[in-house]
Amino acid sequence: MKNISAVYPGSFDPPTNGHIDIIKRAAKIFSEVVVAVTHNCNKHHMFSLEERVDMMSRSVSEIKIVKVSSFSGLLVDYLDKTESFCIVRGLRALSDFEYEFQMALMNRKLKRDVETIFLVPDQEYTFLSSSTVREIASLGGDFKNFVPAPVYEKIIKIKGK
Ligand code: ADP
Repeated sequence: MKNISAVYPGSFDPPTNGHIDIIKRAAKIFSEVVVAVTHNCNKHHMFSLEERVDMMSRSVSEIKIVKVSSFSGLLVDYLDKTESFCIVRGLRALSDFEYEFQMALMNRKLKRDVETIFLVPDQEYTFLSSSTVREIASLGGDFKNFVPAPVYEKIIKIKGK
């Protein structure tokens, strides 16, 4: 494999075990994986950008070639900054496909040599999303097995306040 760095963008609100599964798979393929937490003022997030970056950083601290960062604006501009042309995205089910396909083609229209690499998580994570974790947590359900330990601790701490 060539010396290629990839960017894995997402809201990660909060990071889940599904995201970590994708990051571990990407880390086996690429020489460097930059997890890029998106800052989007128009989107209402449960966690601030700093909290999402912090939770993600703690969750991937043992995977050496992974860096956690954040960006606002166009992903293709961020790719230029990081000198990368590869975007990693996770595909859980057919329902993800249409949106992801549209984004991949749009990013390629914006920057011709961009490639989007889709990775499929372990079957046990195909039902998992940040929004279901937020919902279970807010309804008092047990979400411990769905998120990395630092994320679980953070949510429990907030709920305890
Ligand atoms: P976004 O708002 O950019 O969709 P998310 O944090 O929801 O941000 O997701 C980031 C990426 O991770 C997307 O490609 C999404 O399809 C993927 N993803 C989300 N949950 C899972 C999961 N359980 N398994 C695999 N990929 C996932």
